[in-house]
Amino acid sequence: MIVGGGPVGLAAAIALRMRGCEVMVADRARPPIDKPCGEGLMPEGVAALHALGVWSDCAPSSAPFFGIRFAEDGRYANGRFRGGQGAGIRRIELHRRLIERASAAGVTMRWNATVRLGRGSGAELDGRKVPARWLIGADGRESAVRRAAGFAEIAQPARRAGLRRHFAIPAWSELVEVHWHDAGQAVVTPLPSGEICVSAFANRPGPKFADLIRLHPELNRRLAGARPTSEVRGAISGSSAVSSVARGRVLLIGDASGAVDAITGQGLSLGFRQALALADALAADDPARYQRAHRGFVRTARWMARLMLAAGAHRAWRRRLLDALNGSPHLFDYMLGIHTGAAALRNLPLGAIAGFCARLSAPRFFKEGSEA
Ligand SMILES: Cc1cc2nc3c(=O)[nH]c(=O)nc-3n(C[C@H](O)[C@H](O)[C@H](O)COP(=O)(O)OP(=O)(O)OC[C@H]3O[C@@H](n4cnc5c(N)ncnc54)[C@H](O)[C@@H]3O)c2cc1C
Repeated sequence: MIVGGGPVGLAAAIALRMRGCEVMVADRARPPIDKPCGEGLMPEGVAALHALGVWSDCAPSSAPFFGIRFAEDGRYANGRFRGGQGAGIRRIELHRRLIERASAAGVTMRWNATVRLGRGSGAELDGRKVPARWLIGADGRESAVRRAAGFAEIAQPARRAGLRRHFAIPAWSELVEVHWHDAGQAVVTPLPSGEICVSAFANRPGPKFADLIRLHPELNRRLAGARPTSEVRGAISGSSAVSSVARGRVLLIGDASGAVDAITGQGLSLGFRQALALADALAADDPARYQRAHRGFVRTARWMARLMLAAGAHRAWRRRLLDALNGSPHLFDYMLGIHTGAAALRNLPLGAIAGFCARLSAPRFFKEGSEA
């Protein structure tokens, strides 16, 4: 029994069906469900959708991207994926495709459903107890399953606000752009059919979307006159963690199992990888295996989120960092590889690190764009 039919709950349902389990998903909303999201899938997320048999249906409705570009005040640094490509896909379209695949796989889905959770691991659906071997909480950041089953939350640091809006303007880059400012960031994801998704993040909740975009003059210029194709929608961002994700018969997955700050662009990709690991573990009747795999997935993502937000906190420091990354493109590519799981931290090329550190500490000795 899976509580929450968002993208990760559906991915888990499909993965479990592929392992021969009987699966029911219940969600309180009606599909297809739209949710504020940057709508960028990292290469490992695309690979997981491949493994779930969903990607071939999603691909025609997606736009590829090949890396990440950091930008501020005319300064740029480009990092390219080492293997695979990312994809921008409208959230509502992704949800539709996941539902179709889940339905074809034989998942029972209940929408607009009221799920009541007793203490421990019992679930009632529309007043009836659901007999289930496993109860999976895929019910998002504010998970009721997590609360009802008594999982301890170990970290809930400052929450950030995330707002997103779509615009009818063809993507001007084949990279996802991250624009930086002391007060927050803006992320541009390419979508198909001449559209982009813009998400704006504020370190403190409150500001309006237009005010946030004005913090990034280059982006503001590009969006001037572009026709919005959706309303502004907002959600909470920021990282959170739980001390364990498996407790007796109850398991947590996706944002319910601890979220990473949306600036990493990894929430969906992490969730899809967790779904595959969860199905493997439950097919082997070994929830501890899922716990171990989960820990491995989120460790690097949390570390990256902390690094990005700390490194991006001060303008002077960001400028140095952008220049140093711009001068060390191979290192930036490698770091992106670590971020997406395509490269190992222990193999970081030492020569490139030395060059990067030299640029960071004494930028005036290096010519624009030259490799150390
Ligand atoms: C502004 C913003 C931008 C982002 N950008 C990106 C990005 O570019 N790439 C990326 O990978 N990630 C991004 N993320 C993160 C990503 O959106 C989340 O990680 C992802 O939505 C998690 O999916 P989920 O299925 O775990 O949870 P959700 O999408 O939150 O789904 C949970 C589901 O559970 C249901 N539910 C909740 N409570 C109950 C209940 N009691 N009973 C029944 N159903 C219930 C809800 O209706 C919902 O359908 C972004 C997040 C934000 C806020």
